[in-house]
Amino acid sequence: MRITALAGGVGGARFLRGLLHHARRTAPQTSGGNDSDRLELTVVGNTGDDITLFGLRVCPDIDTLLYTLGGGVHEGQGWGRADETHHVAEELAALGAEPQWFTLGDKDFATHVHRSQLLGQGMPLSAVVDRLSARWGLPEQGVRLLPMTDTPVETHVVVEEAGEQRAIHFQEWWVRHRAALPAERFVVAGLDRATAAPGVLDAIREADVVLLPPSNPVVSIGIILGVPGVRDALRGSRAPVVGVSPLVGGRPVRGHADVCLRTIGVEESSAAVAGLYSDFLAGWLVDEDDPMPDRRGLEVLRRPLLMSSVEAAADMAGAALDLGLRLRAERASA
Ligand code: GDP
Ligand code: CA
Repeated sequence: MRITALAGGVGGARFLRGLLHHARRTAPQTSGGNDSDRLELTVVGNTGDDITLFGLRVCPDIDTLLYTLGGGVHEGQGWGRADETHHVAEELAALGAEPQWFTLGDKDFATHVHRSQLLGQGMPLSAVVDRLSARWGLPEQGVRLLPMTDTPVETHVVVEEAGEQRAIHFQEWWVRHRAALPAERFVVAGLDRATAAPGVLDAIREADVVLLPPSNPVVSIGIILGVPGVRDALRGSRAPVVGVSPLVGGRPVRGHADVCLRTIGVEESSAAVAGLYSDFLAGWLVDEDDPMPDRRGLEVLRRPLLMSSVEAAADMAGAALDLGLRLRAERASA
C-alpha cells in the first residue's frame, strides 16, 4: 500500500508517527501477511522554513520529521533532539555571534554541520536527506522522506513596523516575534522557479492514498502546493486525497496558523481550510466540536483530532487512512 503525505514540522511529524504506529498495530501478527498490505510511506517535506544560520543550512521541518519518526525528538518541544546540551550556542553567544533567537542544541548542530558539508560538496538536498534518513532508520520503517524541492526556497514575511514595510525570514517572524509583528503577506523566494525534487510528483501520481496531515495550511502545506507541478499532480492523481484539520474548536492546537490564515484573507475554520484544497480534496477530518463543511464531493468525518499521545495520533491517522482506502475502493468500483 503506497501512501504519500505532504508535511510540515511538528503537526506533520506527530501525525505520521501515529500513522506508522497504526500500521504496526494493525499488521497481521503471524508471518505470511500480504506484501501489498505493507505500508510504504513517502513523505514530502516543506523546505520553505529552511534558513542559513552561522553559515550552516538548517531545515527545521525536515529535521523535525527525521527526529520524530526516528525516535530522537524532544517530546515536550516537539522539535529538536531529546537529551540536548547547548555548549555550542553558549559559546557562539559569548562570541557575540548572531542571531541568538534561534535555539540549536549540540547534537542538532551536528546535523546542520554534516548537511552543510555535503551540500558544499555539491550533493543535492534530496541526497543529503537520504543520508540523514538512513541515520534515523527511516527506510527500515518503510518511509522515504523527500524534500519538496532541491532548489533553495525561503518563505519570507512582509511585515509592517513603524509605518514601514520590510521582508524578514519566516523563522524570524515565527520564532523571534512569535508571529506578533503585523504581517502583510508571505513571499516565497525561489518557489516559482523551483522544480519538485526527484520522486515527488511520481509519489503523488502513483500513490494509493494521499494524506494531508494537520500541518499548517499556509506556511507548510501551502508552500509545498506552490512547488510547480505539485498541485496539478494532486488534481490528476488517481489516489483520493484525505486531509486532517489543524484547527480544533476553530483554533490551531499549537503555533499561529490562525494568524497565517488571516494574513492570506482566509477565515479561521476547518471548513475554510478545506476550501484551500477544494480542487483536489476528497476526504476531510474535522474535530468533534467543529462544524462540518458541506461541499459536494467531499466526504467529511468527525473524529477527536487532538494528538495527545502516540495512540491518539494513531487513531486519527488510521481514520484518515481508512477513509482514503474506502474512497479508493468506491472509485475503483464506480
Ligand atoms: P510546524 O512546521 O512545526 O509548525 O508543524 P506543521 O506545519 O506540520 O503543523 C503545525 C500545525 O499542526 C498547527 O497549525 C497545529 O494546529 C497543528 N497541530 C499540532 N498538534 C495538533 C493536534 O494534536 N491535532 C491537530 N488537529 N492539529 C495539530
Ligand atoms: Ca515549519
